[in-house]
Amino acid sequence: MNLTGNYINGEWQEAKTGDTMESVNPATSETIGESQKSGVEDIKLAIGHAKTAFEKSDWRSNSTRRSDALMQWAYKLEENKEDIAKILTLENGKPLKESRIELNACIDTLKYFGGMARSVFGRSINLSATSYGIIDKEPIGVVGIISPWNWPAMLMIREAAPALAAGNAVVLKPASRTPIVSTAIVKLIEDNEYFPPGIVNIVTGPGRLIGDEMTTNPDVHAISFTGDTSTGKNLMKKAAEKVKKLALELGGKSPNILFPDANLEKAIPAVAKSAFITAGQMCFAGSRVLIHESIHEQVVEELRKEAEKLKVGNGMDESTDMGPVISEDQLNTILEYCEIGRRDAKLVTGGNRLTGEMYDNGFFIEPTIFDQVPIESKIAQEEIFGPVLVVQVFKDEEEAVELANGTIFGLAAGVWTKDVNRAMRVAKRVQAGTVWINTYNKNYPQTEFGGYKESGIGRTRGIEGLLEYTETKHINIEI
Ligand code: NAD
Repeated sequence: MNLTGNYINGEWQEAKTGDTMESVNPATSETIGESQKSGVEDIKLAIGHAKTAFEKSDWRSNSTRRSDALMQWAYKLEENKEDIAKILTLENGKPLKESRIELNACIDTLKYFGGMARSVFGRSINLSATSYGIIDKEPIGVVGIISPWNWPAMLMIREAAPALAAGNAVVLKPASRTPIVSTAIVKLIEDNEYFPPGIVNIVTGPGRLIGDEMTTNPDVHAISFTGDTSTGKNLMKKAAEKVKKLALELGGKSPNILFPDANLEKAIPAVAKSAFITAGQMCFAGSRVLIHESIHEQVVEELRKEAEKLKVGNGMDESTDMGPVISEDQLNTILEYCEIGRRDAKLVTGGNRLTGEMYDNGFFIEPTIFDQVPIESKIAQEEIFGPVLVVQVFKDEEEAVELANGTIFGLAAGVWTKDVNRAMRVAKRVQAGTVWINTYNKNYPQTEFGGYKESGIGRTRGIEGLLEYTETKHINIEI
């Protein structure tokens, strides 16, 4: 794959550092291409151009232009979906069928916010016979978007689309492990006449250096960060110096809760899928399953069968269900958690690195299940970010809710029961930004998503996701 540049002010540029970095296919350890290893000077340049474009172009005031720009980006992505899906699989490792799902989500998001760009409105209020208040919604300015590697296309577009729809300029900083696919998606706008130069910029390179500059640079008016909770906390401390607006989408340890009357035929494959999708490297992975004691043994046995029938392999093979994890480091971290699991709980299946000809050069691990995991165990508390499902047992609704809420996270949950009263009661008591009832992992651009507790601040998607990228101004008129 050709070396990709930074896209700054509508032009492709090499990093001023003169350095490049390699992307490695986690299924084979082969280098798939190079991208710019940028430094502070590059990101400052992009921020400067974004600021000028925001101030001097009609982007912020021309909602039709913004709508057309996002729609055209969506159509272009539709045309190039298959090529980009391959890049995504080669760089991230996920199965091709999952890459297509991710890109469909990007297309849908661009179209939704393309429509919403025409509907960024405030309200007015009659304050007295002679006084009106106009509550106006304005773009913030330059928005820095820092995204992770696990869903590198969607998590960049999920934030860029609403930020642009609201009239902001963006500087994108993709994860250092997946810069090529992110850049390939930005490349689709180089002929898009609706984007003024400088409104969309992308700079690739090390997070600590570039992310730090983005976070502290006074010309970046807001930061959207999707990533690890500890990185998010550090970023928050730095952003505090400039009282910078922040949206944080962080980690999770989300539970599926299975009551005795759950439709198990539907629940069991959904629970397994939620735990093993993207090899478990998913913020809202259903990485815990809470099972009522009366169905515990039966469900664990069925989950074991689901895990063992998954075909693990190279994502480029259409029949692969689960690809490798992103890196050797990530694999070793997961294996360390498996050691903790062996000490604290009962191993049901998996727990080992996969070996053999098709696995030896990549970072493959067996889909893993641990049963009867105590709530205080690290594997029940910490985000493993790997294909490891933790089983916990409860005796009644009270204990189920207590276990569900018993971590620092609050991103998502699933509740499985035929009793609608119980479903709603539990959904209301679970501390999570999204609760799915009798389903899991259903996401739409029009429904809000975000975290309670240490899973984040702010909301993405939907109307709230759009308003996250606006400032509110009250204009008072006397007549
Ligand atoms: P990460 O925190 O290591 O990196 C995320 C991004 O931040 C990358 O672009 C990285 O280069 C950059 N970065 C690193 N250090 C930085 C710093 N000091 N300042 C600014 N930016 C910096 O996370 P990751 O390993 O790429 O992604 C996995 C994590 O992301 C998991 O915890 C997962 O739960 C979380 N995640 C959350 C959501 C959500 O919507 N809540 C979605 C996907 C992933």
